[in-house]
Amino acid sequence: MDPKALARELQSILGPDGFLDSPAKRLSYESDGLGILRETPQWVLLPADTQETARCMVLLAEAGIPIAPRGAGTGLSGGATPIAGGVSIVTTRMRRILEIDPENRVARVQAGVINAELSRAAERHGLFYAPDPSSQMACTLGGNFAENSGGPHGFKHGATSRHVRGAMWVNHAGQIIDLTEPAVDPEGLDVLGLLVGSEGMFGMATELVFDLVPIPESIETLLAIFPTLGAACESVTDLIAKGMQPSAIEILDKLTIMAVEQSVFAAGYPRDAEAVLLMDVDGTANEVRGEVRSLQGLLKEHGAIEQRSASSEEERRKLWAGRKGAYGAMGRIAPDLYVADVVAPRMRLAEIVQIATDTCAELKLVCANVFHAGDGNLHPNISYDRRDPDQVRRVLLAGQRIMEACVERGGSLTGEHGVGLEKRDHMCLMFTDVDLAVQNLPRLALDPDQRMNPGKMLPVRGCREVRTRSPYLPGMAGYEEQYDGKDQGGRA
Ligand SMILES: Cc1cc2nc3c(=O)[nH]c(=O)nc-3n(C[C@H](O)[C@H](O)[C@H](O)COP(=O)(O)OP(=O)(O)OC[C@H]3O[C@@H](n4cnc5c(N)ncnc54)[C@H](O)[C@@H]3O)c2cc1C
Repeated sequence: MDPKALARELQSILGPDGFLDSPAKRLSYESDGLGILRETPQWVLLPADTQETARCMVLLAEAGIPIAPRGAGTGLSGGATPIAGGVSIVTTRMRRILEIDPENRVARVQAGVINAELSRAAERHGLFYAPDPSSQMACTLGGNFAENSGGPHGFKHGATSRHVRGAMWVNHAGQIIDLTEPAVDPEGLDVLGLLVGSEGMFGMATELVFDLVPIPESIETLLAIFPTLGAACESVTDLIAKGMQPSAIEILDKLTIMAVEQSVFAAGYPRDAEAVLLMDVDGTANEVRGEVRSLQGLLKEHGAIEQRSASSEEERRKLWAGRKGAYGAMGRIAPDLYVADVVAPRMRLAEIVQIATDTCAELKLVCANVFHAGDGNLHPNISYDRRDPDQVRRVLLAGQRIMEACVERGGSLTGEHGVGLEKRDHMCLMFTDVDLAVQNLPRLALDPDQRMNPGKMLPVRGCREVRTRSPYLPGMAGYEEQYDGKDQGGRA
């Protein structure tokens, strides 16, 4: 089918609001939260349900056109960044909560439902959806599923994979695979397990089934103020070693506090603190009282200057709104933000945070830290201006050095933001060519043409070649290597 006829067919399936081909409308889909890498999609398709998605994907398969699935585009690793000559299929018109079943504590939703909307809808049943990325006011549950997203309360509740029970899946050829019927002990291969965290490479999720969790009887929010960032980190390492179980443990450093306090997210964090620890403790009222007492003792031993406890639900919300608005607040420092995402072994939190700080200082970059300390999931946030190529180069170099430091010390490349385009080549820091070829085997089985999000997640070159470049990030000048038609990981 020639491109004009194909465009007409797609438009007839999706209607005028579901098919975008004008340059102005396509422009807002040219990147995700990793603004360094941009590409305008040939068309943007916004199906309203599974059937429309499948019909479009059949036509795109016949035409051999690559697809970048997309939710809200809040990803930070370039996962939803379009592919040159490809289309974006966006789920934001699939926004219906299809069912909440309070007896079985599950919800069935379309993939474009915004994370926070599910908890709001479940509240009247005394339930909530536990994974709470800080982007939860905007990101979609489909994006969370594809990235296996976590969040501040991941320390207690785990990431998305712990809460997903089923998915309606459209594969690369447009076939619908119904995995929505929750089974206590599914027979055969754990296909759902394979799809969670697959970063849009195996097809599109159009519907999802999630577990819901009872709202705890009591929640207490604590704010501990520290004279140094290192002391805050050490107290987290110690409280975990002692088996304490807050539901969330977040650290904000001085620069983050300053940015938040000068913004609309101002939460009342003390402006003179070097670092604060923000924690939730939940459970029965008795459990909470006991845990808070133990925590307060431990934090004092680690040199907390002051400890506060939210005295009302409003204050609690404000303290968390400050944390969740922190990235937005950093817009006050510079026009762009590079959010690194690495995992440090919890015993080495302070050491790796110090390395990140020193690396940025050495490269003359402004770096603020705000992170899920309980998970060891660090987010050094580097403010920069992407119009300055030298700054961009230094930002990427800093990102790479921080990743190297984590991996060398037994940590990991990514905690929750995925690999996408950003860390595709850094996979060589953790894996050999053989490891990567094995990781590519499921992809070759599920998407033999490799049209679903090609060029993402797995290096397109061998690791020896990747290591000759520094920083590794593909294409600071236009990422021409994103996808050049070569078989990805075809070494298997
Ligand atoms: C301010 C801010 C705070 C953040 N905080 C956190 C945090 O605390 N924890 C965390 O884990 N992440 C966080 N993130 C990252 C991001 O919000 C998550 O990765 C989120 O899950 C992305 O959802 P999205 O709908 O925006 O997906 P997108 O960015 O649109 O897509 C993300 C990936 O999923 C794929 N995808 C999207 N929808 C589908 C689908 N229906 N089927 C198949 N593949 C699909 C895309 O191809 C892409 O690879 C944050 C981001 C920002 C900007």
